[in-house]
Amino acid sequence: MKRGFSIAVACVLFIAPALAQTPKLKDVTIRGYVTEFRSPTDFDIEDYRIARDQVLALDFENASPDITFELGDIRVGVELEIKGSLNEQSGELKARSVKVDLEQFKSIKQTAFVSVRPEGIQLLDGTWGGELRADGQLIRITNATAVVFKPTKREKKLAEQKGKANAAADDEEAAEPLKSLDDVTIGMAMTYEGKRDRDTGRILAERIEFASNDLEDGEAKMWKSLKTSVKPAQGLKAGELKIDQIGKFKLVPDADVQAYVTNLGQRLVPAYQRDLPVDDPRKIPFQFHVVQDDAVNAFATPNGIVVVNSGLMEMLENEAQLAAVVGHEIAHATHEHTWRQQQYHKKARFGIALAGIVAAAYGIRSSADMATLVNGAIVSGHQRALENQSDRIGLQYMVDAGYDPRQAPAVWKLMAKQNGVSATNFFWSNHDNEPTRRSYLMNELKNNYRDTDYSQFRMNADEYSRIKAAVVEANGKKKKIKVT
Ligand SMILES: [Zn+2]
Repeated sequence: MKRGFSIAVACVLFIAPALAQTPKLKDVTIRGYVTEFRSPTDFDIEDYRIARDQVLALDFENASPDITFELGDIRVGVELEIKGSLNEQSGELKARSVKVDLEQFKSIKQTAFVSVRPEGIQLLDGTWGGELRADGQLIRITNATAVVFKPTKREKKLAEQKGKANAAADDEEAAEPLKSLDDVTIGMAMTYEGKRDRDTGRILAERIEFASNDLEDGEAKMWKSLKTSVKPAQGLKAGELKIDQIGKFKLVPDADVQAYVTNLGQRLVPAYQRDLPVDDPRKIPFQFHVVQDDAVNAFATPNGIVVVNSGLMEMLENEAQLAAVVGHEIAHATHEHTWRQQQYHKKARFGIALAGIVAAAYGIRSSADMATLVNGAIVSGHQRALENQSDRIGLQYMVDAGYDPRQAPAVWKLMAKQNGVSATNFFWSNHDNEPTRRSYLMNELKNNYRDTDYSQFRMNADEYSRIKAAVVEANGKKKKIKVT
């Protein structure tokens, strides 16, 4: 009797908060890009509907005398940090303070690689004009844009030997106006400088520089140092993937699963990379492996070893979502992010181990990576710019391979659910969090795929669930369904 009574009491206590009419308010901090704008006092960041408190503090980071911002300047694509109270039932966030990092309105400089023959720009009366799709986004070129070609050291030497160039010419002088689009070849580096137009999201280019992209000696050495080998399965022992400097991983013992991810990955590799002959030093020898690890994670090494954890595959719902993650990782490799980051840190006189950079290049972060985050560079502006680039280019790879790019932001929705990570979590509130990444992708879709007919894209949910079941099976984990 006594026992029954206490159970009944417990039930009542449990139900009571749900019956209460007062909404549950929580103090939160979210950082993200405005995805929908109705008015400066009513807009969305991802799924959060932001309303404004009567008294609102507006703060700035990286202030600069030539950049002004007021609340009336809030629009789609602007990145904000909002502190306020969240009504968890309605998703409404009443903002108490808004912080704006003015860095986003300053001139940007970014390097990407030419993956298709440039279209959309032409030379008229000696100046270039038009719109170029590059680096996963739209770049506007006007007669005020300097469009130049810059020979590499190797090319300069060649020209000198032919007596064409002045050996004393310094770097700036070495750049010459681009004469024809024929001089731009696939795989070339394109460095652009300019500002993002606040209304259209387009980059208004001030300067665009094309240069051949030679595999540098240091880069080739880095590739070599990441020697990779696969030990096949033996009897009951699972196969093993070993990447020098990174570690050893147990492969998911299912040939179908491995072949499936390899096929998917190879389809996402951009055509210009696939088409390079095997002996071309610039060819990245991509490999795709699924390893047994419950952490929701994936990563890529600079020499194209893409590792997908079983835990990630178990979380995702369809092939397009897996394509989003794998495409993002391929972009890290094609855009030489590990190398570029190492060069960057060298300049900043801040040594960082290779393994640390690769780990920090994880597409998907779980709480297990917190240590890396705290120690590492992922929160630096440089790393952030590279993450954004991988997101943009990953979307492009998805689209090129026929996958619905809207599934990319959907991955972050699942991540938030899986990790229980929310704006209320202390750690995430100080860093990029799921809303940041998700709202970034949502914005990129708006900026660059506005006129896209999404019905032509696929998700392949059925095929994916077959493979996912095989991953679960291979891991020997019979998922218990709770029916209580
Ligand atoms: Zn990444």
